[in-house]
Amino acid sequence: MYLCLYHVIVQVLLNGKSLTVNGGGLDGEYIADQFHLHWGNRTAAGSEHQLNNTQLPMELHIVHHKASYGDITQALSKPDGLAVLGFWIDVGKQNTNFDQIVNKLHAIPNKDQRVNISTFKMADLLPSNCELNNYYRYHGSLTTPECNEVVIWTMFETKIHLSQQQINTFSTTVMAEGDINLVNTFRSVQPLNSRTVQYSQAQSLLLKKTIALLSCTLTCLIMIAF
Ligand SMILES: [Zn+2]
Repeated sequence: MYLCLYHVIVQVLLNGKSLTVNGGGLDGEYIADQFHLHWGNRTAAGSEHQLNNTQLPMELHIVHHKASYGDITQALSKPDGLAVLGFWIDVGKQNTNFDQIVNKLHAIPNKDQRVNISTFKMADLLPSNCELNNYYRYHGSLTTPECNEVVIWTMFETKIHLSQQQINTFSTTVMAEGDINLVNTFRSVQPLNSRTVQYSQAQSLLLKKTIALLSCTLTCLIMIAF
């Protein structure tokens, strides 16, 4: 049995269906649908995955569905239906590549609001290609309801960095019901349940294809309640 809390996330819908990833141990081609972020609060970290039992301040997830299943709705019923590329976000210098997201949060403080954002390269949000060789891989579940066990997870070891102020903007701008700040938008860590977590240090097709993925454009921010 899995704890599966309902919460709200900030999601960026990707424009078009041409962004794909394959190789790197993935069986077939996966098409990107959206990416979204998880955060904590001003004094506590909010990543979903832990590294050596430690949470990082935030986490970014790029969600793909398997192309052969048609769409994400169909893929949700298949054990290998989704592939999520995950990145930890740690405190560092101000990251101006995230300004177009961070600076738009004030326009979508409440559930179901959306706003257009300028086109930009997804690659600019992520670590460089040569920093993407090391990653963790396991078969798990969605971290949002219905928490289906249909996700091939890839967590990259190299982190994204944002300033503390940028990180704080998420937990101090986005609102939950009751007119309170939306904080701690992560699912608690689940039992391993005999899963194998693999670690790769080899450059792979996945990474080369990831770069193709990153040339995408974004169209809007949307608040979604699951
Ligand atoms: Zn997520």
